[in-house]
Amino acid sequence: MKITIIAGARPNFIKIAPIINAIKSKQNEGFDISFRLVHTGQHYDKNLSDTFFEELNIPQPDVNLEVKSGSQAEQTAAIMIAFEKELLQNPCDLVLVVGDVNSTMACSIVAKKCHTKVAHVEAGIRSGDLTMPEEINRMLTDSITDYFFTTSTSASENLLKLGSNPENVHFVGNVMIDTLHQNIDRSSAPDFWNEHQLKEKNYIILTLHRPANVDEVSSLINLLHGIDSLVNDKKIIFPIHPRTQAILSESKIEFKNILFVSPQGYLNFMYLIKNSFAVITDSGGISEETTVLGIPCFTMRDNTERPETETIGTNTIVGTSFENLKKVFGSFLQNGARKSGIPELWDGKASERIVSILLGK
Ligand code: UDP
Repeated sequence: MKITIIAGARPNFIKIAPIINAIKSKQNEGFDISFRLVHTGQHYDKNLSDTFFEELNIPQPDVNLEVKSGSQAEQTAAIMIAFEKELLQNPCDLVLVVGDVNSTMACSIVAKKCHTKVAHVEAGIRSGDLTMPEEINRMLTDSITDYFFTTSTSASENLLKLGSNPENVHFVGNVMIDTLHQNIDRSSAPDFWNEHQLKEKNYIILTLHRPANVDEVSSLINLLHGIDSLVNDKKIIFPIHPRTQAILSESKIEFKNILFVSPQGYLNFMYLIKNSFAVITDSGGISEETTVLGIPCFTMRDNTERPETETIGTNTIVGTSFENLKKVFGSFLQNGARKSGIPELWDGKASERIVSILLGK
């Protein structure tokens, strides 16, 4: 079986790493399975791309389509045009896509139109929020997927409600958590750890890059000033996404607690998360990692496509207003973290299950 694996953006790299490891171990067992790795070039900063390949031992891509940035339509179209050529030159039995970025949707459409089967890892999750490009990418990808690999029973149920054939819906667990299991022991303190006297639980991690939080510069600055005032006795480490950095670049702002740092590599970032007091974020993936690491997470969004991070895990959806964050965070400071657990099958073995299903074993 020849599989073409698609990866375009930071969270994709983290998701494909354990799938490639699982394919390699099946190869070592003598199974007929090979892969070609296509990097679409959606993320191209070293900090968001190369570092992850190096740290997670992902092989160099067989090809980089180098689409880079653009509007939603420009980027999606550029990926489709480049990937169609690539797939016609290098046909395969199956195109495997992960997550919900433009590369996920664009390559699924191209594959299906070239009569190639599509496997979607992280299928079926839904926020119901069509203002987010990711939700549209999820819906379109799942409408033409042949193998749905889901992270939760609720994602599987979403697909069944939409009429997907139950035989094609496979609840396998979470590949992002496979990566966490495979690498957490290798995590290490970043260079600035000692310089800023960071210690276990004496700092908060902040990440923000979703349009609803960062696209309007004055609201973003107000939000940051609010977050800066949430605590007196803790640093707030803010690995700033290039998208957010570009929006803030012209502004001269100073904070008493917030410390801006560059986007972190996976190993430093996991070290920072696992030792943090709490995390404030608008990332979906981080709410899964904090759930498994047992770190309180406050998500600055109005909804989530990962409800189990809240019903079982450590995540609290606080909306995008600072006022609500202040209220919810204040109650956490007073009452401590609530009890949490780890969702079913988030056990580090999702990738093995995926590859076994693809091989029909
Ligand atoms: N991440 C990282 N370094 C950072 C910020 C995030 O390694 O400075 C990792 C994080 O642990 C998670 C993934 O990147 O595994 C999430 O990426 P992002 O927030 O871009 O995507 P989302 O989850 O919002 O789709």
